[in-house]
Amino acid sequence: MKKHLTAIIFGVGGAVAVMIALMIAIITIFMGSATSQKDCDSEETQSATTTATVAGDWTKSGTSANTNAKAVFDYWTQKKGFSGAAAAGIVGNIAGAEDSSFTLDQKEIGGGADGGGGLYQFTPRSKYLNGSSTVKKTWKGDWSADDQGDAVWALEVSNGIGNGYNGYAHMSVSTYAHLNDIEKATLQWMWGYERPAKNNSTGPSRIAAAQTAYKIFNGSSIAANDSLLGGASSTAATGTATGSDSNGCATNTGSGAGGDWGWPFKSIKNNKPQISGEQLFGKSSSRQGGFHDGVDFGTVPYGGQDILAIHGGTVYKIGHQGHTQNDLGYYVFVKSDDGYYEVYQEFAFEQSDADQNLKVKEGDTLKTGDRVGTLNQVGDVSHVHIGVSKTELSKAQNSAFKDDGTWIDWTKLVKK
Ligand SMILES: [Zn+2]
Repeated sequence: MKKHLTAIIFGVGGAVAVMIALMIAIITIFMGSATSQKDCDSEETQSATTTATVAGDWTKSGTSANTNAKAVFDYWTQKKGFSGAAAAGIVGNIAGAEDSSFTLDQKEIGGGADGGGGLYQFTPRSKYLNGSSTVKKTWKGDWSADDQGDAVWALEVSNGIGNGYNGYAHMSVSTYAHLNDIEKATLQWMWGYERPAKNNSTGPSRIAAAQTAYKIFNGSSIAANDSLLGGASSTAATGTATGSDSNGCATNTGSGAGGDWGWPFKSIKNNKPQISGEQLFGKSSSRQGGFHDGVDFGTVPYGGQDILAIHGGTVYKIGHQGHTQNDLGYYVFVKSDDGYYEVYQEFAFEQSDADQNLKVKEGDTLKTGDRVGTLNQVGDVSHVHIGVSKTELSKAQNSAFKDDGTWIDWTKLVKK
């Protein structure tokens, strides 16, 4: 972790206090978070089963299916400011492929004791039930449409929709929310969020259902609401795909092979990164704990460049903690198959930063040199901190600031 300013400003006593508080916060958040698998679609191989009473035709008012479908539509339009077309695309994905009964606590057959669940088929169910570290909330079995929407938002959609899977590039929340093309919205959600197997043929039924939702819920009268979208509206630029190595669940069979070690920026040549002083790994008199557990690469030499994977692996968790340089902001945990774990943090603190700087999603497989993010100098971003451990990273965080062997000076592993 980093905290140059804190250490300097607060002095030793203040720094220790901050360190203790931060460590408690970190331990709390990681204990509270559970699994971090993706929301992979599985309707290709698993048929849904209805656990509730007969829900009726979701297109007919007065049925529970219709009530729940409307609740989904209203969540995205009224709570998040999405246009009628954008929200209809989401409803259409549920009605056209997942569950036309809109059973709130829907289960899947064949998913095991902890199979998929809910309107959005959270996989596993516990991912939803345990809440999200991002919002630090546990839903405890309440499968309301609003809570499920909050989970979808926190776990993934707040960072945009799409990662390049099946040709659907990353789209910012704002861009998606402003869509007025129902078919486009439906397909972006299908391939950007649901990510079924590439041979999935339910696209037309999802689109048809979305058009129905648009009609019965009066979508044409609902425009995107910029005041609800907030900062997202100013970062409407559509990102690009994370590249050919970016995988959705259906194709995510990569081994997460570690491979070589590399530098995180293309401009670093001859094994000579521009890092010095307290940016370096190891003992640091000015830092709290007297130890820096990773390496900081500043925006001065590297701003605007892509942050590249220093080692190959699989992105197994993306989370968010804190909004300042004294915390992690958005963090990306990568697991390599040779026993190493890599964390990239502090390169985005707000959602608007993440829209621009965060370029991977949970489940992506990376090779050394693949893009993890971009070090745009936005908000409070001044650098990216990259740490490496052989301890799983949620556990390794217990050794934040500690020189106890948990953290490794990975720069010594880079050969060129
Ligand atoms: Zn650092």
